[in-house]
Amino acid sequence: MVTCPSPKCGSPNVADLPHYWRSLPAESPLKAVYAPPAAVDASYWIALAALVAGIVLLVSGSLLGLLVAVAGVVWGVLVHQRAAGAARLLADWESSRVCLACTGTF
Ligand SMILES: [Zn+2]
Repeated sequence: MVTCPSPKCGSPNVADLPHYWRSLPAESPLKAVYAPPAAVDASYWIALAALVAGIVLLVSGSLLGLLVAVAGVVWGVLVHQRAAGAARLLADWESSRVCLACTGTF
């Protein structure tokens, strides 16, 4: 049996946060309060475009291409790290519970 970890509460009346959130009506103000973390838009296309542009520049003999290609790779890594961080936050949210007595989440 899971109980609320708040020392002032300790209520056994807890619910799965994702399950509770999905059961809320759309007009409920709690819908925003308990909403899952926003997903980041993992758009790799800018990184990919820079990489391709860099390679094209390199092939055409411009050393600037190396810089552009490296920038593309670095950008891709940053996008990937942001996406991984957002996925972690979402996983935390998925495994959270909400106390129906004191409305705390844990
Ligand atoms: Zn509580």
